[in-house]
Amino acid sequence: MKKTTVTIFHNGDDLSARTFETLSDKMSLRGYDVNTEYKDDSTDLIVCIGGDGAFLRAIHTCDFPSCPIVGINTGHLGFFQDVLPEGIDQFIDQYESGEYSLQHLNTVRATVTTEDGKKQTQLGLNEITIKGNRSYSVHLFISIGNQPIEKFSGDGLIFATSSGSTAYNYSVGGSISDPRLNVLQVTPIAPMNTTAYRSFTSSILLPADLSLGVVPEQRENHIFVTNDSRESEYTNVKDIEVRVSNTSVHLIRLKGYDFWSKVKDKFL
Ligand code: NAP
Ligand code: MN
Repeated sequence: MKKTTVTIFHNGDDLSARTFETLSDKMSLRGYDVNTEYKDDSTDLIVCIGGDGAFLRAIHTCDFPSCPIVGINTGHLGFFQDVLPEGIDQFIDQYESGEYSLQHLNTVRATVTTEDGKKQTQLGLNEITIKGNRSYSVHLFISIGNQPIEKFSGDGLIFATSSGSTAYNYSVGGSISDPRLNVLQVTPIAPMNTTAYRSFTSSILLPADLSLGVVPEQRENHIFVTNDSRESEYTNVKDIEVRVSNTSVHLIRLKGYDFWSKVKDKFL
């Protein structure tokens, strides 16, 4: 029988490195093929040891993997993790007996088209953001489903997935959205709302089949797009289309996982 191939990532801190050693010893003993390099066609399971930042790094390193991924939390906020270092044996047992469910996390995609016709895409698990140059305000014409809606003026916009709604989105007053809801939450960062500029001041929620168009005002030469805090700078942007993507991340959730208990534990 083919061995189960597991790729393990860790964030380099002491506890994570020790947890990595323990986990890879235990899994090797139990007959797994353990490695630290993800291969799309052969990895069956990804384990990520660390916090949410390490989890996001693993997702991007693997370019949004198609196999299941599980997180082991080594003392960080840990929204994506269900396993603790002391629960490794129990996790392997549960994995082998199929006592888990897969939570399919939706992602968000931005397609940036520049004046030369070139298209570049960015994918985010938490969010995409669009901001202006340095600390100047940014002015963006927003359309929803091809319908012009507003000219946004302020620091920028966050386009959050439901599973990313508890991250940056929440810090700027966005709503916490249950990950079972496949919606795109568009949250303004410091919107200006004066007689000079008028922008929505609250989040808006869009269904997954609707896309949002962003056209920078002519004087905006530099636009910054981030996907999960990874920043790209663009010049001469014609437009940016943002929508829920078909790509999803398949997160292992163990018995007892409950989104709202997690929110309560971490935030209240
Ligand atoms: P970071 O700046 O170190 O992370 C900020 C915090 O966000 C960390 O505590 C991280 O948890 C937590 N976090 C990440 N994803 C989360 C989620 N889905 N739900 C709840 N909390 C979450 O950078 P990072 O660790 O690489 O994470 C990148 C994320 O930081 C971005 O995707 C963005 O959402 C967020 N961010 C937040 C702000 C803000 O709140 N003002 C500003 C910029 C970016 P861990 O401690 O477990 O890593
Ligand atoms: Mn972090």
